[in-house]
Amino acid sequence: MPPSSATPLITAVDAIVTNPMQIALGNFVLIRITTDQDGLVGWGDATCSGSELAVATMVEEHLAPALIGQPASQIEYLWHTLYHLPYYRSGSVHLSAISGIDMALWDIKGKQAGLPVCELLGGTVRERLLTYRSVSGRTFEEVLDEVRVLQETGYQVIKVQVAVPELASGYAVPATAEQQAANDEAFSRGIPPAETWEPEPYVRMLPRLFEFLRDELGDSVQLLHDVHERVTPSQALRLANDLAPFRLFFLEDLLRPEHLDTFRLVREQSDIPLAMGEVFCNPWEGQDLLFEHLIDYARHDLAHIGGITAARKIAAICEARGILTAWHGPGNISPLAHMANAHVSLAVPNFGIQEFDAGWDERIDAVFSAVPRYADGHLTVPPGPGLGCDVDFEAALRHPYVRRMRPTIRRADGTPWAY
Ligand SMILES: [Mg+2]
Repeated sequence: MPPSSATPLITAVDAIVTNPMQIALGNFVLIRITTDQDGLVGWGDATCSGSELAVATMVEEHLAPALIGQPASQIEYLWHTLYHLPYYRSGSVHLSAISGIDMALWDIKGKQAGLPVCELLGGTVRERLLTYRSVSGRTFEEVLDEVRVLQETGYQVIKVQVAVPELASGYAVPATAEQQAANDEAFSRGIPPAETWEPEPYVRMLPRLFEFLRDELGDSVQLLHDVHERVTPSQALRLANDLAPFRLFFLEDLLRPEHLDTFRLVREQSDIPLAMGEVFCNPWEGQDLLFEHLIDYARHDLAHIGGITAARKIAAICEARGILTAWHGPGNISPLAHMANAHVSLAVPNFGIQEFDAGWDERIDAVFSAVPRYADGHLTVPPGPGLGCDVDFEAALRHPYVRRMRPTIRRADGTPWAY
């Protein structure tokens, strides 16, 4: 489409919930904004795992009516219009909805200008993006084998997770066969699986994993790990000190973000690099962590914190303090959010690393026209205006919502996990 200088007006806003992979936690909430200019349509990602249908309703019933007839070019104006529209604003559902709309508006602006979004953000600062993926196993040896597989494909940074032998499951690690059967049975009934978690065996075991991997791998690869906030504050402090000798790339989500007092203690007592951000649902959430420089990497999720408009402001706050970006990039947000991640990562000066941990196959390609390209440990985006990813609307509709509830997490005595 040739670039046009006329202001496009929004004529329709649609939310589509689709699950092309038909897998657990794989529902994407896609936003389509249609304009009065022939063929000028924008796509964005409003995926919020665990609240997908609520986000779709938020968009179509509670936000879209305020957008109809509005100029699609006024992204900042519309962002604030939508942010202040509900009396009870903020939170995961509202901000995920805004995120998807925001990405679609940037997509429209790029398509209208005939430029990729990274060019609208000031142009690229680098040619490609350092990236990482995750591996996991029930045993140290399984983790080592998986690391070596990724190394062979060029990865220089790898996230490692391992099961705790005493526990049947954990976050982002393989469950035992019995636990997996119980999970599948719960999924078939449409109820949440039940998992048991005890932090102390995990805190004792994890340094041994890194000692094992460093003995086997030397310094041939950089390693990182995600705690998922599954330890108490005092355990977090001990874990940071125990892991520091193994020179992690970063340690992620060591504490709940509100535990500022313990973050300060960790910073005083350990030099381990810290990362946090994927749980934030507002551009201003967790700002004390940034202003006090209590973390080293900002892991915000562009589908949850307000899209590209919010991300570039967060990046600027981080830039002033030497904090680097590491936007959240798991497989349960769609290729549209991954493309948004990549465009912002290409354009900000304080880029650190970009997670692209999707593991998708041709079923994604049947719905989405592009995903970030991987080669030799790095990502690039394919050329093209806007976000560079369009959606086959009819194909998306052929893969409707699948209910896959997240697990309930309880201590061994039945207490819901609270730290
Ligand atoms: Mg994480």
